[in-house]
Amino acid sequence: MNNFKKYLEKKESQEYIVDYQRMFNKYDKSAEEMLNEDKIKIFNSDVNERVNLYFNFPWCERRCLFCNYTNGIKNESMHSAYINNLLDDYKRYKGLFDKSEVTSIFFGGGTPSILNVNLLNYYLENIMQITNLTKSYVVTVESNINNLYEEKLEIISKYANRISIGVQSFEKNVRLAANMLFEQDEIIKRLRLAREYIKNMNIDLIYGMVNQSEKKFLNDIELCINEKIPSVTLYRLELHKNLAYSKMALNGNSILDYEFQCSCMYMKAQEIFENAGYIENPSGWFVKKQCTEEKWNNRVSDWKSNKSYIGFGNGAYSHLDNYYLSMICDVDTWSQEVKKGNIPIEFIREKSNFEKEMKSIIRIMRTEQKIRKVNITEGLFTDLEIEKLEATINTFLKYNLVIEEGEEYKLTKIGKGNINWLISDLILNDVRQI
Ligand code: SF4
Repeated sequence: MNNFKKYLEKKESQEYIVDYQRMFNKYDKSAEEMLNEDKIKIFNSDVNERVNLYFNFPWCERRCLFCNYTNGIKNESMHSAYINNLLDDYKRYKGLFDKSEVTSIFFGGGTPSILNVNLLNYYLENIMQITNLTKSYVVTVESNINNLYEEKLEIISKYANRISIGVQSFEKNVRLAANMLFEQDEIIKRLRLAREYIKNMNIDLIYGMVNQSEKKFLNDIELCINEKIPSVTLYRLELHKNLAYSKMALNGNSILDYEFQCSCMYMKAQEIFENAGYIENPSGWFVKKQCTEEKWNNRVSDWKSNKSYIGFGNGAYSHLDNYYLSMICDVDTWSQEVKKGNIPIEFIREKSNFEKEMKSIIRIMRTEQKIRKVNITEGLFTDLEIEKLEATINTFLKYNLVIEEGEEYKLTKIGKGNINWLISDLILNDVRQI
């Protein structure tokens, strides 16, 4: 870890960027002036034979203080109008990929599980009825601990074969500081109940939170293992300048020290999962070995090969072969566009060669923990880009973040534990001779 600390210390910018999309977004252009026919043409020509769908529901029951999600809380009267608009939008444009097979659907948000049982049933039923799913599909509903009770679980399990739960932390004081309900015993009780309905469960945990020591975080990992949770996804807390919570999380430390502590937490968690028979793929996502059945492997392979990812709902984004699109974020404006029959796109970007090639490299880094030399030298990068990428990789070599093995650079244990840093350095492609 000392090498990694030295590496961090040499960096001029200590800004940690977890969303790669933001690194490419200097190319975004507004789709405001674009004709609906032109937007349709993009969808028509750029969707491949297998697609993954995402549906966004924008609101939550209460606000977690670490979250930068801006839609906030809305009363139930808004829910039904939103769901009807979402269904109209989907029905109108799903024909554009009718020839494709849908391999996965993710009902996310916000928190879709806060919908009342009738509306939740109506929402899931309508989407599922008209979607052409493959045999080994995965349908996930994102849920909150607050909504894990029998009536609701019955509805979710009728349509979904996977549930993803934002637990974030089991620790009382960590949860209190983040404005999250329930203590450990109640959370475990609800998770057990949910698993009676849906075996395939993922839990999200965050590290780097307020009041969270390394010991507490690692206790949470042990708890997931003891509870035989089949899939756990770890997220580093995103620090946002506008949130008081982020300042509290730093707790007077410099970003560098904070980053270093977080990296240690993550790497220790990796080790505990590994010893308990979990495999990490893609990075940050730990799955129990016996759960790596066909469906899960298909998901990883879709993810790796960049199948089309299409998002519906306000703020949802879509990745097509050549374009990146993002839907209008503001719920009212999004609703008005849907009512007019327009595709409610806010930003659209034709991917540059650099972005396309970098995406392939990122996917391989995250799923195979290596960088293939051929992806750098024989892709569509310019000579200057190749030169910069190679210089960045030489820096990784110098600080023992990767090792050279034949035609590949393999990530070392420290490199794997800090993969987001490595990826952001490659994308920013901005070597400062560190
Ligand atoms: S439930 Fe999820 S989306 Fe909603 S405020 Fe909490 S973390 Fe953010």
